[in-house]
Amino acid sequence: MGLVKQKHFYNRMRKKITAGNWKMNLSYSEATNLVKELAQVKQEDNEEIIVFAPSIYLKTLIDQYGKTCTIGAQNGHQEDSGAFTGEVSMFQLKEIGVTRVLIGHSERRAIFKESNDLLKKKVTKALELGLTVFFCCGEQLEQRESNNHFDAVAQQLEESLFHIDATRMSQVVIAYEPVWAIGTGKTASAQQAEEMHHYIREQLTRQYSNEVAQNVPLLYGGSCNPTNAPELFAQPNIDGGLIGGASLSSIDFIAISEAQKIS
Ligand code: PEP
Repeated sequence: MGLVKQKHFYNRMRKKITAGNWKMNLSYSEATNLVKELAQVKQEDNEEIIVFAPSIYLKTLIDQYGKTCTIGAQNGHQEDSGAFTGEVSMFQLKEIGVTRVLIGHSERRAIFKESNDLLKKKVTKALELGLTVFFCCGEQLEQRESNNHFDAVAQQLEESLFHIDATRMSQVVIAYEPVWAIGTGKTASAQQAEEMHHYIREQLTRQYSNEVAQNVPLLYGGSCNPTNAPELFAQPNIDGGLIGGASLSSIDFIAISEAQKIS
């Protein structure tokens, strides 16, 4: 198969993912009502809708709606148990049926001071447990303005993700989220996002192989909404979105997931 044909083939094979990161939002009844609506959305085999919900809601949401809507955790501790007051371990998450976990979200990095080294431990533990890791990476505004955005993302991948072996990469989704676009209303242009996604795929090829690189879904995150989603999702290396604010409204989130169908 020629290179262009091969890329097209993988592009169609990769899952199209619409993932919502609720952060610390929604009351219990709002959360259950929203998932109830999402669970009714018809998804094709290569599409997936996921919500990363607050940990206190996970078990109920999984028990009630987990068969039709994938529910993931926003964070998890790398130790199975111990004296870590207020934390929830990935081991505990797995026990209640969680299969997906976000690791490295920029809010965890900035507010909770999660270092690349700590994130590496979290990635290792999640993969050992058989969880799918949604690994977030992205540059700060100053890094983009000083043209260091590629290096910044490469360093995050090198230091927290690239220690894992190729076979485990089938359990990884990467979300590129430029920090300056998160919750700010400023979206990366489709060209800026595609350029970085293309770069990330090149890094995966260099570290692993073209086959591994072509199979890893790459999501864009940062003020994605129903208006900008179609152009973003139409890019060859963008396989979906990690959505914050707009995932709190069923109308907007479902509209974003619909944009996958036309991409
Ligand atoms: C996020 O928190 O991952 C995110 C992308 O947020 P928003 O869509 O609100 O920018």
